[in-house]
Amino acid sequence: MTNSRVCDYCHTNNPPGSQKCEACGAPLASLVTNTPQRSTPPPVQPTSPSVDPVKLSQAQENVEKIEEVVQQGRYLYAILWRTVAEAFSIAVSTLLLGIIAGGIERWWLGVLAGTILGIVVGFANKPYWLAAISAPGGVIFGTLFWLPVWLISGNLPGMLASASFFGLLTAALGSRKRPDNGWEKIRPLLGGLGGFLFASLGSLGTQFILTFLRNLVNSLPG
Ligand SMILES: [Zn+2]
Repeated sequence: MTNSRVCDYCHTNNPPGSQKCEACGAPLASLVTNTPQRSTPPPVQPTSPSVDPVKLSQAQENVEKIEEVVQQGRYLYAILWRTVAEAFSIAVSTLLLGIIAGGIERWWLGVLAGTILGIVVGFANKPYWLAAISAPGGVIFGTLFWLPVWLISGNLPGMLASASFFGLLTAALGSRKRPDNGWEKIRPLLGGLGGFLFASLGSLGTQFILTFLRNLVNSLPG
């Protein structure tokens, strides 16, 4: 028996003593401890003749059932946190892309970039905290990177390109091998849908506000 710890969610082999999966961040079974293997086996307790063998096998069965439930719980916990982290990541990053696209009145470019970014976030497999910050971090970096260019030359479309580029780069960067389970097949689809929705919200919302402000300015006397 080895001390390595296999993740319930993505089946990655983690080093002994890991509390969380290196690949996906899911909690690992606490039943295996990181104490070094004893060279001498522990003394075997003589089985008491008073223990009913039927009761003993029932007890073992119950323990197995509990272990199964705990394993299912860890699996659901992994899915829950992955979903929360990625929903946050996609909402923030694609809303920002949408706002920039709305600013240049090219909402469809924002929706396109946001949908692609959502799919990439859904495809990537990283620990939750990294999944939560990487795409928004990239989009913010790309925006700030272009900010001086925009202020000097007035080139705003380049900011959308820059934000999209760095967002996609950071979303994909550091991704591990993808787990092979049902939820992983749905994630890219949900990611794309989320990106589409938030980019639409950002871009159409921004265009609406800009049009409203323009009409307001035009309607002013003088
Ligand atoms: Zn894992």
